[in-house]
Amino acid sequence: MSGSALYETFARAPLAFERGEGSWLITADGERFLDFAAGIAVNSLGHSHPHLVAALGEQAGKLWHVSNLYEIPGQSRLGERLVKNTFADKVFFTNSGAEALECAIKTARRYHYVAGRPERNRIITVEGAFHGRTLATIAAGGQKKYLEGFGPNVEGFDQVPFGDLKALKNAITPATAAILVEPVQGEGGIRAVPNDMLKAIRGLCDEHGILLILDEVQCGVGRTGRLFAHEWAGIEPDIMAIAKGIGGGFPLGACLATDDAATGMTTGVHGTTFGGNPLAMAVGNAVLDVVLEDGFLDEVNRKSLLLRQGLAEIVDAFPAVFEEFRGAGLILGLKCRQPNAAVTLAFRDENLLTVPGGDNVVRLLPPLTVSDEEIRAALGHMRDAAEKLVKVAVDA
Ligand SMILES: *Cc1c(COP(=O)(O)O)cnc(C)c1O
Repeated sequence: MSGSALYETFARAPLAFERGEGSWLITADGERFLDFAAGIAVNSLGHSHPHLVAALGEQAGKLWHVSNLYEIPGQSRLGERLVKNTFADKVFFTNSGAEALECAIKTARRYHYVAGRPERNRIITVEGAFHGRTLATIAAGGQKKYLEGFGPNVEGFDQVPFGDLKALKNAITPATAAILVEPVQGEGGIRAVPNDMLKAIRGLCDEHGILLILDEVQCGVGRTGRLFAHEWAGIEPDIMAIAKGIGGGFPLGACLATDDAATGMTTGVHGTTFGGNPLAMAVGNAVLDVVLEDGFLDEVNRKSLLLRQGLAEIVDAFPAVFEEFRGAGLILGLKCRQPNAAVTLAFRDENLLTVPGGDNVVRLLPPLTVSDEEIRAALGHMRDAAEKLVKVAVDA
């Protein structure tokens, strides 16, 4: 046996944390890190949020798991609340983002199947996308580095370049069932689809009888300053996958759909053992309690402005390190001129945690509850790190 007992699939930082408080992660030695990674946009309300801790604790003392053989009141409640606050009429709960996407893909194919169009089963996806690590979702994402060695690849996905409406139009065939898009690519490097492009994609779907599937696993649940990112474009999908932020740190995902899009998802055609269990539902409902509170999203937008103003100054001050910043709300990216891995490491040396992404970007994904003071502290750490990176570059 070499090294640890774990698969070597993760390049982990040599860091372990004992507890978390709000926007802070704390090691066993008491060293504090400002968490602008938030478990990759998962800890939407930070660490140890009292309302979430209470909800989980209370449920844990009553009932953990019963399976979907029985009714789960927390599931009906969370489903109804998601329906009330979105385009959707129906919800299927999962344990992860990839499973939510699997459900979305199956929902789209069944929709055409039960309408007597089984040949319409292909899904158009966008380059740079990330939809998860199951066999179907790596095929949907189409990234070579995630597909290599795992063939034969799952069939049925056609990929077009990011931001290329003409290519998307040309990719539509009589076999197209759906178009699958992240309104803001997360792992792809915080690349937002412009609002007019999302509108045009919606129009193409309507014109051709194609379903629009949005992947809001990373950009949903308040991250962009609206409950869901597509609201900025004034459009509605037919199907949407969510996860990450809705669980606030508890494994929870969901596939949302209109009544029409979900017509094929009848009794027995899909299932899950753990999905929607009482623990997950208690936490999901508690996350919504906070995110749906009056003024919560206004605060996200206000704090986003503060962070973005600071980032603009930093990009101006350190052109040798940063090219630009981009994104919306509290899903922001710093496109780097130096390798993003080195920048992420330099930030970590200042006790600021961030996440590298595609296109040489460092992702900034603080808890939505981050304070002004913490934003100012993070900006200070970024400046200190950038100064050191410039100095190293000059000395070299
Ligand atoms: C993280 C992510 C997924 C996959 O979620 P898992 O919970 O890791 O399966 C899918 N889509 C997007 C946009 C993501 O960011």
